[in-house]
Amino acid sequence: MDFAQTPAQRRLCQAVRDFGQRELNFENSGDGPATPFNREGWLRCARFGVLGWPVPKKYGGSGLDPLSTILALDALGYACRDNGLVFAVNNHLWACAIYLVEHGTPELCETYLPPMCDGRWIGAHALTEPGTGSDVLSITTRAERAGDHYVLNGTKTFISNAPVADVFVVLARTALEGARQQALSAFVVPAHLPGVRVAREWNKAGLHTTPMGEVVFTDCRVPARNLLGGEGDGYAVFTSTIEWERAFMFASQVGVMERILDDCVRYATTRRQFGRTLGGFDSISGKIADMKVRIDLARLILHKIGWLKDAGRLAMMESAIAKLFISESHLNTALDAVQIHGARGYLTEFGIEREVRDALCGPIYGGTSEIQRKLIAGMLGIAAGDETG
Ligand SMILES: Cc1cc2nc3c(=O)[nH]c(=O)nc-3n(C[C@H](O)[C@H](O)[C@H](O)COP(=O)(O)OP(=O)(O)OC[C@H]3O[C@@H](n4cnc5c(N)ncnc54)[C@H](O)[C@@H]3O)c2cc1C
Repeated sequence: MDFAQTPAQRRLCQAVRDFGQRELNFENSGDGPATPFNREGWLRCARFGVLGWPVPKKYGGSGLDPLSTILALDALGYACRDNGLVFAVNNHLWACAIYLVEHGTPELCETYLPPMCDGRWIGAHALTEPGTGSDVLSITTRAERAGDHYVLNGTKTFISNAPVADVFVVLARTALEGARQQALSAFVVPAHLPGVRVAREWNKAGLHTTPMGEVVFTDCRVPARNLLGGEGDGYAVFTSTIEWERAFMFASQVGVMERILDDCVRYATTRRQFGRTLGGFDSISGKIADMKVRIDLARLILHKIGWLKDAGRLAMMESAIAKLFISESHLNTALDAVQIHGARGYLTEFGIEREVRDALCGPIYGGTSEIQRKLIAGMLGIAAGDETG
């Protein structure tokens, strides 16, 4: 196995780092519950090609291979201090666009992917409901067949990008009887259809430039051609696609961890107490060493996933491990950074506490840590591993 980056991958990473640092760290990318969606940053990402990295060239994307995509996302996370913008981009790519790439008909791909790549349309994924979070198979949103349409009724909540979204991937119930795993279907739903309404916007602890909303579907008529897969394939579509989200979305968090590490090394080698730099205390240098260990282990599992996806293979176990390990590592790294910076870590003007708030939700979305452990145990044959998202 070869861990060396190709010259093209090295150039890509450098270009992404330069782009992020030069063009994405401007004043608008602020912090605070009222901070709006970072549209200017979004359009800059579109112009640089970020929004089409995993999308085939024939649909307006760059057609990057999986490992190069992971490296680019890692570099983006490092360079862009607006974690909310990076999260919005990742949601668009891995919770929406990739569903079309993997399961869309040529007609759906031709309609939706070009405007999603060039920044005109923003994607979102509507799965979670007020009564159904981890237990995906229990969703109640209904899609009833009516001629060449389906009529959608239900409420989806905690949907990232919803208040600014132009297109949703929606999971809904098409059968009330029979096998639970064949009862769901996945649809591409344009936000402008009559009967689609963002009913409320949620305030969050962090990731403020990613807006989050509740979406209500009321007698919304979705063309049957907007099905992803066939009727009843929704759960299979979801489980085969979420491994992209669980791995690729978290690649950016590894870049964030490296940025935090660099900040901590800088601080620990300049701040002096008791006549020496902080790095001279074992308890501080140990925290910094742990940060480096997490980053390198995270990259190993992500690179393995890149290799598996390049070969067209499933990565169910690896993506659950990656999601679990990286999200928890990110949070622990951010918490350690606060401790290393002392009071400055806690004060808003130094930006360290923001890293904690932005990292808090990683072990929740995309399937909680508890659910990832359950899935991993299930794949080892020692617990029920399915039926969870
Ligand atoms: C920042 C953020 C962005 C999000 N974006 C989206 C989005 O774009 N689209 C979308 O559809 N959803 C989104 N969500 C929702 C997210 O997917 C859900 O929050 C998640 O699936 C968990 O569901 P829940 O919050 O209802 O918790 P619950 O499922 O109610 O779980 C509560 C607690 O119980 C634990 N638990 C539940 N079942 C089990 C079990 N079987 N075994 C052990 N423990 C269990 C959970 O791990 C958790 O600790 C987002 C959430 C956040 C925080």
